[in-house]
Amino acid sequence: MHEVELKRRSAGALSSVLPDTQAARFEAAAQQAGRRLEGRTVWNLSSTESGGGVAEMLHNLLGYFLDAGVRTRWLIVDAGEPFFALTKRLHNAIHGASGGPFTAADHAEFDEVTARNLAPMTELIRPGDIVMLHDPQTAGLVDGLLEAGARVAWRSHIGRDTPDPASAQAWDFLRGYIERADAFVFSRRQYAPGWLDRGRLWLIPPSIDPLSAKNRPLTPSESMTILAEAGLLVDGRMVVQVSRWDRLKDMPGVMGGFRLANPPGDVHLTLAGPAVDGVTDDPEGAEVYAECVRVRAGMPDGIRDRVHLASIAMDDIERNALIVNALQRRATIVVQKSLAEGFGLTVTEAMWKAKPLIASAVGGIQDQISSEHTGVLLSDPANPAEFAAALRRLLYNDLAQARLGRAGRARVLEHYLDDRQLIQTGDLLESLAAIPEVQPSAGAGASR
Ligand code: UDP
Repeated sequence: MHEVELKRRSAGALSSVLPDTQAARFEAAAQQAGRRLEGRTVWNLSSTESGGGVAEMLHNLLGYFLDAGVRTRWLIVDAGEPFFALTKRLHNAIHGASGGPFTAADHAEFDEVTARNLAPMTELIRPGDIVMLHDPQTAGLVDGLLEAGARVAWRSHIGRDTPDPASAQAWDFLRGYIERADAFVFSRRQYAPGWLDRGRLWLIPPSIDPLSAKNRPLTPSESMTILAEAGLLVDGRMVVQVSRWDRLKDMPGVMGGFRLANPPGDVHLTLAGPAVDGVTDDPEGAEVYAECVRVRAGMPDGIRDRVHLASIAMDDIERNALIVNALQRRATIVVQKSLAEGFGLTVTEAMWKAKPLIASAVGGIQDQISSEHTGVLLSDPANPAEFAAALRRLLYNDLAQARLGRAGRARVLEHYLDDRQLIQTGDLLESLAAIPEVQPSAGAGASR
């Protein structure tokens, strides 16, 4: 278990990009959280500090909580390859892809890693502290932390709109671990398994920080310099997808659709993701990347040279973020052709940059994009012809590009910046803080 160094982020600076009433609401909520959580520490636990949406979001959001005067800390669970292979199977199964069945040996592995991580945690936390556990990797810690006197919320950043046998297997595996948490947080109502107590359910979609290296304004020449230094500048229009190298992001399908669209010769496709040794909780990455290299190699001359696989180093997170920012800003069209998606922060990021999106109608992407208004939704993400047709249509329509981009940005401003998430999370934390302490009664021992 190790701790992530958090940097304070100025709530006042965030306010400055918001309309006045939105800014006032945000500042009032931040001050209130500071007051009501005084004397407690809010712990966050997750499985990685870089690469992927959860890590991205926590750096920013927790920085604003620090600024609001909330004592906030972030720890990373300590685990090895077998554990991450298991949690990746759980992740895939929750999305409805295969992953199960989950066996007694899987439980044994899960329990062993959990016990190893619980011991140092119980040394650190004090009764009354609040712990936010993120995703399946941390699910095993719920009971131990409750016993240590903490208020515990478990948050799933993933889910599936309609349960299927694979997702049911994953939730069966997790149920006994998470069931007693004080609160559950999901990005969408549909994601919460049916057995979960609705009275403890909170719906908090993710959000982005408009001031982070990932999203802050860049001039066209700054973007060009950043991309030139990274060896990613191309001479022509760019179609871009940024994702982890994960099967559910369907990078090979984006290449297939691009080929089918047969776009004009000045149009390039850039698929960008973290260097495959960079995301430590994602063992599938190297395989998927290798598959993309193979698919690209099999493309005909004249298309292949315009398809670029960018593997971006993760050792310098700031640099990585600036490269992603520049790619998104330089893009003519941004794509997120995921087969499944918890929320889709890359979609939010591109909408904030006023880019026209072509994205699959899956998971949280459907909350962000209303088709033909704030982007274009693909009704069948697995159909390359639908993607190819949307791409061709949009490439030839500058007016539609601008219109979709403007509407997308407005939607993000209103719903998906960190002010909204800070307000909701503040409410959750305050309600956890208000749970009465359980006093150990003589002879009976403490129980919850
Ligand atoms: N990301 C990044 N560098 C990369 C690839 C992805 O910083 O090379 C970021 C991306 O900008 C986004 C996050 O990782 O902020 C991915 O979040 P999303 O919700 O789209 O998908 P997830 O990875 O959580 O499934």
